[in-house]
Amino acid sequence: MTVQINQDEALKMLEELVNIDSGSYVKEGVDRVGSYLRGLYEALGFEAEELVNTEHGNNISLKHKDAKDPEIIAIAHMDTVFPEGTAAERPFSIQGDRACGPGVIDMKASHVMLYHAVKALSEAGDESYKNIEILLTSDEEIGSVSSRRVIEAHSKTKKYALVLEPARADGSIVSARRGAGSYELEITGKAAHSGIEPDNGSSAIKELAHKIFEIEALSRPDEGLHVNVVQAGGGEAANMIAPNAHAVVDVRISKMSQGEWVDAQIRKIAEAVQVDGTTVELSGGVNRPPMEYTEGTKKMVDLITEEGSKLGLEIKHTHTGGGSDASFPAALGVDTLDGLGPVGGKQHSAEEYLETESLVARTELFINFLKRL
Ligand SMILES: [Zn+2]
Repeated sequence: MTVQINQDEALKMLEELVNIDSGSYVKEGVDRVGSYLRGLYEALGFEAEELVNTEHGNNISLKHKDAKDPEIIAIAHMDTVFPEGTAAERPFSIQGDRACGPGVIDMKASHVMLYHAVKALSEAGDESYKNIEILLTSDEEIGSVSSRRVIEAHSKTKKYALVLEPARADGSIVSARRGAGSYELEITGKAAHSGIEPDNGSSAIKELAHKIFEIEALSRPDEGLHVNVVQAGGGEAANMIAPNAHAVVDVRISKMSQGEWVDAQIRKIAEAVQVDGTTVELSGGVNRPPMEYTEGTKKMVDLITEEGSKLGLEIKHTHTGGGSDASFPAALGVDTLDGLGPVGGKQHSAEEYLETESLVARTELFINFLKRL
């Protein structure tokens, strides 16, 4: 089946979506995007389950009314990183081959793509769209605070999870992502005059210095494990042994087992106090699991590459350090692929753009990929 996606119609929809401010903290805006999309899917025979949040936007699950137990979940977030008023300041615009505006590639264009894919399949009478659950989430950009549990609950019974983060600037899809963790150290020592009675003090900064070297030594760059002390400070006055110090530790992991190992090591280091009279308090943990490159992912990559070549598109795949919602189904053992949205770049900045031509091309690719799954 050849599908015809109307580019003008798709860009019109994109303009409407971009011009609704939907920063993660703008509940009203995220909910407006949600109602807009919900209305469109309902017109195609989908039924919505709206999971209401008081603080952030609502998460919305959509399934066709004739769907039994869909095997595929498509996940797309509605929030952006931009504050209220950004869309009024620099609304949607077309500049040459690119479309611009807040959230245009991350990921308003993905919503246009997903909707048009489902619409094209339903107009063509192809039943594949009944095999998909669509999950519109509200707070990915701030760590999926409310949506993580929803994503886990809705994806755990699925065979495939398709995450519609944009493709990389060079068009690559994403087949693995690193997981992440964050820790805070609070060290308490004992103040003393550094000139008169320095021996009566216990330096929290000296204790922190030991910790910094021990913690950073946990990095295994060759294995994709990075542990960095990214913030540190302490002390109260120029002539005082430091009674306090603190640090923030950033952890990036490529495998789940690294997360367990590094967590245990950091706790051990925190407990082993080296400067007498100081105490260390540790908080935090590994909060985003990695999306590992599994056998299942590889099969999906092969499929989409094959479908791409039929359309004359060379589809590459890549591993990236940044996190996304793809980590959650992946950690549950669901075959997951990410970066399935259109091509663009500079997300999270005012220069964010979509390669306009990729909108229709990637929609066609997505349709054919869905049919194969
Ligand atoms: Zn995103």
